[in-house]
Amino acid sequence: MSENCIFCRIIRGELPCEKVYEDEHNVAFLDIAPVRKGHTLVIPKAHHERLYETPAPVLQRLMPAVARVARALVHGLEADGMNITQANGPVAGQVVPHVHVHLVPRFASDAEPRNWHPGAYADRAEMAEYGARIRAAVKAD
Ligand code: AMP
Ligand code: ZN
Repeated sequence: MSENCIFCRIIRGELPCEKVYEDEHNVAFLDIAPVRKGHTLVIPKAHHERLYETPAPVLQRLMPAVARVARALVHGLEADGMNITQANGPVAGQVVPHVHVHLVPRFASDAEPRNWHPGAYADRAEMAEYGARIRAAVKAD
């Protein structure tokens, strides 16, 4: 728990939220500024800033909760699909430094379902160079 973290305060019941799911380790509630109505955040109760710094057991308990809430958006709101995303660090657009997964329900009528734009590598060699750097780091981890 972190004293001033807004999501820890929600977990402690100090701030209100529209809660849609809770279990021993996770909570899900509606995002107050929804990309699409029904936009839901699923968070672990343990305070960790970034997904890749979060201990594996916390993540292992988080993902089934994400899937369960995702199914509830499909069945409860009749969503046709979903964007499931999360940000790590300010440069990635993370505003609340408590790991959270965004569930944005999508409907057949949505105009722009994904708000990022595909780019390109200069050539196959540049792609291979990126691949090599990442594979080396995976080995070292
Ligand atoms: P991120 O930019 O990935 O850190 O996402 C933080 C999200 O938390 C944003 O989409 C905000 O709209 C949402 N948010 C911030 N404060 C609250 C709150 N008190 N209750 C619900 N959602 C919130
Ligand atoms: Zn927190």
